[in-house]
Amino acid sequence: MPHTTTAELLNEVTRLRRRVGELEQEHRRIDAGDEPATRGPVGAASYQTGREHSLLDALPCAVCECDLSGTILFANTTFAELHGYPQDELKGRNYADLVTDERDRAAYLVVLEQLSRGQLSSHSQEMGHCQQDGKRISVEVKWQCQRDASDAVTGLLAVVNEVSRTVTGGEQEIDLAGQYFRLVREMILVIDAGQKITLINPHGCRLLEADESEIIGKNWFDHFLPDTNRRDVKTLFNQLMQGENKPVEFFENDIQTATGRVKRVAWHNSILRDDANNIIGTLSVGIDITERLEEQQALRESKQIFQQISEHVNEMLWVSSADLQKVYYISPKYEEFWGLTCQSAYDDATLWLERIHPEDRESLMENMTRKIQGDFSSTEFPQFRVVHPEGSFRWLEARSFPVYNEQQEVTRMVGIIEDITQRKLDEDAILKENEVLEDRVRRRTAELARKTAQLKALFQGLPDLVLVVDRRGEIINFNNRHPEYLLSDGDLTSGNKLWDLLPEEIRLPFMEAVQRVHTDWRRESIDYPLTMKGEQRWCRARVQPYLQDEILIIVEDISEQKFAEIELNRTHEKLSEAQRLAHIGSWDWNLTDGTLWWSEEVYRIFGVTPASFNPGPATFLETIHRDDRSRVEYIVDQVLKFDFPYSIEFRIVRPSGAVRYVHERGTLRRNAAGKIVSMQGTVQDITERQEAIRKTQEYRDILAHASRLSVMGELTAGISHELNQPLTAIANYSSAMKTRIEQGQDVSDLVRRIEALSHRSGDIVRRLRLMSEKRPQELIRFNILDSIRSTLQLIEYELRQKQINVQLVSDSRMSVVYADRVQIEQVLSNLFLNAMDAMSESPLSRMLTIKVAPAGEFMVRVTVSDTGPGVPDDFVGQLFTPFTTTKEGGLGIGLSLSRSLVEASGGKISFSPKSDSGASFDVFLPCRKMDE
Ligand code: ADP
Repeated sequence: MPHTTTAELLNEVTRLRRRVGELEQEHRRIDAGDEPATRGPVGAASYQTGREHSLLDALPCAVCECDLSGTILFANTTFAELHGYPQDELKGRNYADLVTDERDRAAYLVVLEQLSRGQLSSHSQEMGHCQQDGKRISVEVKWQCQRDASDAVTGLLAVVNEVSRTVTGGEQEIDLAGQYFRLVREMILVIDAGQKITLINPHGCRLLEADESEIIGKNWFDHFLPDTNRRDVKTLFNQLMQGENKPVEFFENDIQTATGRVKRVAWHNSILRDDANNIIGTLSVGIDITERLEEQQALRESKQIFQQISEHVNEMLWVSSADLQKVYYISPKYEEFWGLTCQSAYDDATLWLERIHPEDRESLMENMTRKIQGDFSSTEFPQFRVVHPEGSFRWLEARSFPVYNEQQEVTRMVGIIEDITQRKLDEDAILKENEVLEDRVRRRTAELARKTAQLKALFQGLPDLVLVVDRRGEIINFNNRHPEYLLSDGDLTSGNKLWDLLPEEIRLPFMEAVQRVHTDWRRESIDYPLTMKGEQRWCRARVQPYLQDEILIIVEDISEQKFAEIELNRTHEKLSEAQRLAHIGSWDWNLTDGTLWWSEEVYRIFGVTPASFNPGPATFLETIHRDDRSRVEYIVDQVLKFDFPYSIEFRIVRPSGAVRYVHERGTLRRNAAGKIVSMQGTVQDITERQEAIRKTQEYRDILAHASRLSVMGELTAGISHELNQPLTAIANYSSAMKTRIEQGQDVSDLVRRIEALSHRSGDIVRRLRLMSEKRPQELIRFNILDSIRSTLQLIEYELRQKQINVQLVSDSRMSVVYADRVQIEQVLSNLFLNAMDAMSESPLSRMLTIKVAPAGEFMVRVTVSDTGPGVPDDFVGQLFTPFTTTKEGGLGIGLSLSRSLVEASGGKISFSPKSDSGASFDVFLPCRKMDE
């Protein structure tokens, strides 16, 4: 431990500290290199101040630093504790405030003035100080001037010792020096002339990472300098020891700790001399600046990163002085945004303003002024436009942030500028779109208001009574039209319960309907009769869901409709009855959905009920008699294809097995577009009629038979003559044959004649037998000419008797007919006999003419005419009426029976008066089957 006093130590520390500060400042300036000049001092000053304060803070004695007016700039922890103040609170106070006695204060002020002027460089003074709680303490204050490089006094340092705690001067100083030595955060190192370490403080041990015992006595250079600089430093040291060199007050070099780590240390050295002024070693104070260097490296790297980022991001970055007057950094985006070079911004920090759109300039300036004045409440600038010389412009958005130093002073402004042109354009587009939308909304709102008004008016103006009620029947709203539709008396009032106002007979149906509508959310309607002004009326209430929990009731007078319905029902009943009586039912076949509707009578005709039978095209076909089914299907198909009128008779089989004859008629219905949509028609049970027809046919056949027998009776003479003649001839030829055979002559010609004659007699007999036979109708194909000839044969005798000539004229192209041959021959014989009768009184020559000719495509006409007197005009209308005759003994059924027989074969018979005398009858017969 070197023999030194606290005052000396303090002096030395102060000096070293000042020097370190200055040198560091210089060093930093060199280090910063390209840094603008303004930046260096700020950073260095703060670094220096920080360092000093930590140094002072570490002192075990109470120390405070004042400016020349005595204002406390810094008080260390011990000073603050001694005075009972928190450390921060002492800063800014005047030291004089701590001095309690008037006299002490006066003496202090004198000393202060002398110190400030540099008349005194240090001074000790005993005085009373007051603590924060007002307690007085006796202290000894040692004042020390602080000087700058030019030796001018810059501040004062006061070391305060409480007197009561002070032991004696010398001991105390040694103790303080010792404490300082131990606690200081710098390495204090003494190296003797032999390069050995003779003294090192604890911080030094920590720095060298070894115990004091491992360090003391070791060669500093061999043990704690890296190989790279050992020799050079050693040489310098030796020269120093020899007095050949002045000590280098400040330098930095690398040292190597006991664990081999290399650290960078900033040194301040002073030469130690003995009493005889011989150099005995060096006292060095070293600060570990490894971290600081690393920080500086990191800073350089961050700066590089910042530059790289700033030059690659879409935003423009800038750094300026706090007053925005000087640009320190501006990223290249500036050239793109402003169309000006970055250099121009460094040269003239106001040039950028010229390109700001005049409309935006003022607000921007205002905002800038606020920021310069320290108002950083908002980081943002108003959005602005930069106008380029060619007229294009960009929208920009800027933000800036202040940068503070440790004293919380703004030293820089940092800003980011973003190009928001596209965003602006998008915003404009959105704004426009929004305007359009808003306009639409406005129009819609107006329209809605209009519609609401309309609805309201409609609600009030509706001819029907409209009510809005809630689920419990409470009346919410109503239009008060015809309240009499609901209420026999009493007024509608909002808030009243509807049920309470209703007549009893409709109360329950209304309550139930409202409940159902509320739960099922489906419409309902209630028809009910009521008496209005003594008149029977009908109303219909439509109950329907409205809003949530609200139900709409619309009541209308439906009397007309209801009465019409009732009338319609009556008519329907009548129609049903009529259908039932006439056995005619109606049906409607919907061709779109395939459904088939039957009237009640159709069910009755088919022997089924709506409950047991579901009418449809398929089920309908099943009811048809098997033999008729395909025919019906075919006809229906043809009707649908060609739109023929549908008319068909067929048989159906009832479930009981009974067969019924029905006649169906129908027509196709088309919609407005002309498309066939349905087929409607009737079905009539014609079983009875068919039965009557059958019976009529039977009677007709019986009558025909009887008539034939009667004709046969009439023709007996003729027939027997006709038979007699060939028989007589056969007898004659037989005896002639006998003679010829006896004479041995040829008889073959006689045999042929006998054969022909016997055939002829056989034919007559056969025909007579056919005529006498009782037989039902039988339609066949036959040649009408054959029938005419064989009929003529039967009456051949009479014709001869009455000297009537017969003329048969035929067009042989068409002579085959389809009819009942026997019956048609009966008709012919009847016509021939009538003609014969008519001509029996007529003068000669009498002529019976029979013409056969085609009548259209499907008929053959047989015309029978005579040369008789003809039919009197007044008798023509009765010709075919049964039992009308002009003949004595005549029956008057010949013609009427003929008509019936011809029609039964599908033909027609008619009378056509001749222009000259005589009568003429036309018989039309089909030449083929009806459905061929
Ligand atoms: P009938 O022969 O038994 O009188 P018809 O029915 O055959 O019954 O004839 C009715 C009447 O029609 C005859 O009485 C006759 O007056 C008249 N008549 C029928 N055919 C002829 C005819 N060819 N010329 C004139 N009158 C005729």
